[in-house]
Amino acid sequence: MATLSAKCMKENQMGNCGADDRVAAAAAAAAADGNDDDDGVYKRCCKVGVIGAGAGGLVTARELIREGHSVVVFEKSTTVGGVWVYEPEVDSELLGVKSDRKRVHSSMYASLRTNLPRELMSYVDYPFLPRNGRRRDGRRYPGHQEVAFYLQDFAQECELLDFIRFGVSVEHVELEMDRPDGEISWKVTTRRRVVDGFEEVVEEEVFDAVVVCSGHFSEPRIADIPGIDTWPGKEMHSHNYRDPQSFTDKSVVVIGTGASSDDISRELAEVAKEVHVSGRSWKSSVEFAKPVGRHQNIWLHSMVKCAHEDGTVEFEEGSSTVADVILHCTGYYYYYPFLDTKGLVTADNKVGPLYEHVFPPTLAPSLSFVGLPQKVIPFPLSQLQARWIAKVLSGKVQLPSQSEMMKSVQAFYAQFEASGSSMHHLHYLQGDSQFQYDDWLADQTGSEHLETWRLKMYAIAGQNRSDNPETYRDIWPDDDLHEEALSSLRKLDTNR
Ligand SMILES: Cc1cc2nc3c(=O)[nH]c(=O)nc-3n(C[C@H](O)[C@H](O)[C@H](O)COP(=O)(O)OP(=O)(O)OC[C@H]3O[C@@H](n4cnc5c(N)ncnc54)[C@H](O)[C@@H]3O)c2cc1C
Repeated sequence: MATLSAKCMKENQMGNCGADDRVAAAAAAAAADGNDDDDGVYKRCCKVGVIGAGAGGLVTARELIREGHSVVVFEKSTTVGGVWVYEPEVDSELLGVKSDRKRVHSSMYASLRTNLPRELMSYVDYPFLPRNGRRRDGRRYPGHQEVAFYLQDFAQECELLDFIRFGVSVEHVELEMDRPDGEISWKVTTRRRVVDGFEEVVEEEVFDAVVVCSGHFSEPRIADIPGIDTWPGKEMHSHNYRDPQSFTDKSVVVIGTGASSDDISRELAEVAKEVHVSGRSWKSSVEFAKPVGRHQNIWLHSMVKCAHEDGTVEFEEGSSTVADVILHCTGYYYYYPFLDTKGLVTADNKVGPLYEHVFPPTLAPSLSFVGLPQKVIPFPLSQLQARWIAKVLSGKVQLPSQSEMMKSVQAFYAQFEASGSSMHHLHYLQGDSQFQYDDWLADQTGSEHLETWRLKMYAIAGQNRSDNPETYRDIWPDDDLHEEALSSLRKLDTNR
């Protein structure tokens, strides 16, 4: 039976599917064969623009194509992988506050190894197992390049490359509400560099739906430090940290207690004179006055209180140090300079309002976001989000009404505020809550829940990281679980 999705698949093969085609196809297919698929469920083919070909954009393209939509992925760089594609270059301004600075996308430092075991990072149906080959890294917590290779393998083996327009930057995504059929569409304006960047081509194209997968680890957020204007040292953000060489014999204040701060402060301690790590969230057992760990030149401090003209940095617990550099490992803003929703969606420390971190109620399902949650395992979570989006767009899965979605968002905000958590952390899914969210997403599309080994392994890996911050990547306590995971992933590999 000729169905709409079959038509979309054909258009996907041709790399094109106009909105007008969609309407014509709908009429033709409905007249000829009815418009249901093999399950007897109405299926719609949408022309979908996906912004970004990182881990989120690739898996979104895959799920959309599987569902029979017509897909175009815009990627401003020349390759897939997003943040995992290491760039030796840095922003033209190292703190990342000047809006006219020349930007790089990746925040990877040269020595970065994953902070999650690779089995956990596997997509739902595409295992991240060691592979033979030049420059491949078989370690359980591999270097960044191995993750980039995994994403390249995924794009190639799932035949996604033909759907990606490389070197094309999305400049403007504008809401268009005046379609005769009353549906929303999006005008996407792109800029393509041709011939080594010497010529630029601006193009416009209309899409039924846009999925934003542009990442959220590129726009630095920095700590506010009283007195910093007259402080004579150098400030930078971890987004622009690549290696420790330029910190040799320096005294460095590192602000932040996340994964990057952990790694970078240890790496700096190998060459710097002193490293002072300032954080809001140390456990009460932390002793501020003594050096910590293997390195006898790392000190922990409370928050930075202020900085002075003579180079001193003061901490809230009362100590101070004269520092050469302040390195902000303080996270990132959500930032979508291209997105024009007429104020219906805003982004800063959070994106909202969003139903279940994905759909803005007033623009659903034509606009959606993949990969916003933090403190999670992003690859499988993004895949479950993408699958939900794909099936909502095709009409196989229904969303609640706009007002019900809005009520749900408001209830979530109220509950969040009442818990005393900072609204900065609205997309944090701490502890088991990410797995509850994953299960909820899977239920929306009738997919299987993630395997139970993932939940157990995540808990053990987190504890190991916290107990053994220097060695957790090479010594682990879950051999049995590791075996179980490998055997489950190998089965996927052979079934593929
Ligand atoms: C330092 C660091 C360490 C991390 N470590 C881990 C880890 O160990 N394990 C883990 O699972 N996760 C880790 N992460 C999280 C990581 O961000 C996610 O795993 C995941 O790669 C995010 O993928 P994404 O597709 O959402 O975003 P990205 O990887 O950022 O991809 C976004 C893509 O969109 C493109 N793009 C952006 N704007 C535009 C535009 N206007 N037009 C066209 N293209 C555009 C970019 O070029 C990029 O290719 C880490 C992140 C950082 C920063």
